[in-house]
Amino acid sequence: MILDGRAVAGKIKAEVAQRAAELSKKGVQPKLAVVVAGEDPASAVYVRHKVQACTEVGIASEVHRFGGEVTTETLMAAVRGLNTKAEVHGVLVQLPLPPQVDEEAVLDTIEPSKDVDGFHAFHVGRLWQGRPKLVPCTPAGVMRLLTAYGIEVRGREAVVVGRSRIVGRPMAGLLVNAGATVTIAHSQTRDLGAVTRRAELLVVAVGKPGLIDASMVREEAVVVDVGINRLPDGRLAGDVDFATVAPRVRAITPVPGGVGPMTVAMLLVNTLEAAQTQLGGGQ
Ligand code: NAP
Repeated sequence: MILDGRAVAGKIKAEVAQRAAELSKKGVQPKLAVVVAGEDPASAVYVRHKVQACTEVGIASEVHRFGGEVTTETLMAAVRGLNTKAEVHGVLVQLPLPPQVDEEAVLDTIEPSKDVDGFHAFHVGRLWQGRPKLVPCTPAGVMRLLTAYGIEVRGREAVVVGRSRIVGRPMAGLLVNAGATVTIAHSQTRDLGAVTRRAELLVVAVGKPGLIDASMVREEAVVVDVGINRLPDGRLAGDVDFATVAPRVRAITPVPGGVGPMTVAMLLVNTLEAAQTQLGGGQ
């Protein structure tokens, strides 16, 4: 079974569009502000997709661009300004930031009720307390995709490869909350294959094409490939060797067309929910 993120994301977008229209009828259009610094080409593509997706569902957006030499203080001031703008409901700082910028300081400045990426310590804490508010978009998208295909998580042996703040860690938290038994593997893990072969549900978020081959995957597993890698010939590939792994497993996400579209869809969901929470009196 191929887990079609594009199709599921399409349905989520249609729901968001309907809810956004209802809010607009009440005189409030949800709005996302995106802060971008530097000239990273991948970031430019991601920001374009996010803005386009907002437009499709009736969420307003504005992009605040800064040069590659920007300081931490300038970005913090920009975020503070957006925190106080009542018509902005979601604030997103596109990563990576230029090397001289203190990324954590900038992210920590975002008012939690507007933090639609869910990276602020407030949201990390809430997630690990088992009472999440705004959840990072990629792992939230993975959970929605599993739900859409009726894939049970409770009681399952789950392995997450990667421990980043953006994907691996929140992914593990969501899976624990959903009742899975979770192992987090990373670059220091000895014998990665021995760990991944245990997984009934395997989520891979590393950024190394072909890292996971058929010998590392349990038969009948559900495999979610978060990786997005640009190959020398220009094609996109995940971290999982799709051609050899797909025939062995119960379900797998393709790259592209799996987790990627879900991430953007969940950003729209988070922006809408942030708007509704703020209108309803805050956190
Ligand atoms: P990241 O911050 O670079 O983290 C990568 C993780 O992989 C780290 O925890 C690292 O371990 C681990 N790792 C590196 N080499 C490994 C190895 N040989 N064996 C096991 N673990 C290894 O990356 P990220 O931001 O989480 O992103 C991961 C991938 O997902 C990238 O390809 C990115 O483009 C993609 N991504 C996709 C979406 C989407 O929407 N589909 C969204 C976000 C990211 P250490 O912690 O020990 O260094």
